[in-house]
Amino acid sequence: MLMVDYDPSGWNAPEIKPFGPLSLDPTSSCFHYCPCVFEGMKAYLGPDGKPRLFRPELNMARLLRSAVRATLPAFDPAAALELVKRLVAQEARWIPNKPYHGLYIRPTIIGTRPNVGVMPTDDYALFFTVCVPAGPMFKPGSSTPLALLAMEDRVRAWPGGTGAYKLGANYAPAFESQKEAASRGYNQNLWMIGKNQQICEAGIMNFLVVLKREDGSVDLLTPELDGTILPGVTRQSILELARAHTEGRTELDGILPSTKIHTRETLITLPEVREWNAQGKLLEVFACGTAAVVVPIGRIGINDEDIVFPKYEEGYGPVAKALWQRLVAIQEGRIEWEGWSVPC
Ligand code: PMP
Repeated sequence: MLMVDYDPSGWNAPEIKPFGPLSLDPTSSCFHYCPCVFEGMKAYLGPDGKPRLFRPELNMARLLRSAVRATLPAFDPAAALELVKRLVAQEARWIPNKPYHGLYIRPTIIGTRPNVGVMPTDDYALFFTVCVPAGPMFKPGSSTPLALLAMEDRVRAWPGGTGAYKLGANYAPAFESQKEAASRGYNQNLWMIGKNQQICEAGIMNFLVVLKREDGSVDLLTPELDGTILPGVTRQSILELARAHTEGRTELDGILPSTKIHTRETLITLPEVREWNAQGKLLEVFACGTAAVVVPIGRIGINDEDIVFPKYEEGYGPVAKALWQRLVAIQEGRIEWEGWSVPC
């Protein structure tokens, strides 16, 4: 694991040392007021057997934004990335050499101020990073598309809150709803906000829909970044790849070059999704994030009723499948694209 201490003199010398327990004062602020921010990234083995990270500078920039939001000490994101790369290079033997497998990396910053006083933790902190081998969450053909339980009486995030940051404190309050979803046969929650049931996220993933246009092209819609949504690295990459396809800069497999994918970051409500589905306009619903990359969504439960979406062989609709396959090919270094896959 990688460890860097922060004290009033600044960031101390980094260390890579064997994985093991931390020893912290019980009054450390992270145990009480939750100054804890983190990232989730994955390293993949390239065709040359070398580890690669996917757009890691976006994760480090988001970690810095999260740290500033939680009043934890700031850091140089380029220097932090150098350290994470060194850790991954050293631990590359833990990356499973199998398709769709990777090493999940968890950079974390916690406030360690040893004082129960309720005040910012900008003077004592610990940056640590651990790694865990990870397999695919969704297996095409043998897995069922996700089922989401829409939450009407709970919200994950709210305007002016911290939903757009990766604070540990965003996650524990969602576990009760996650448990309820699991007990009713759903994989994740569909987070919404407001009386109009504005869709936010699919559990811990971003939410996307594909709609059919009369002229044969499609719309790819995802909720806009209004402060209640985590700006996912996968979400951004999907939007950029779809735009590249539509602008003729690349051709996504299985999608005709003439099929334009019009991307839109916009407000999406659950009643709209229901309506598009009833009209036969809704082609695909899917979620994306680092852990799962792209996963199809088959139904959304609300009020003891399920809204059931179109089914596809292997689970994925054509747009989700094309984006998922291209992303994985870039992540695994089989296709070079705009410097997204960074060797360690
Ligand atoms: N939303 C939430 C709430 C998340 O925790 C994550 C995982 N980081 C995502 C979306 C997906 O973000 P990314 O594509 O950067 O993993």
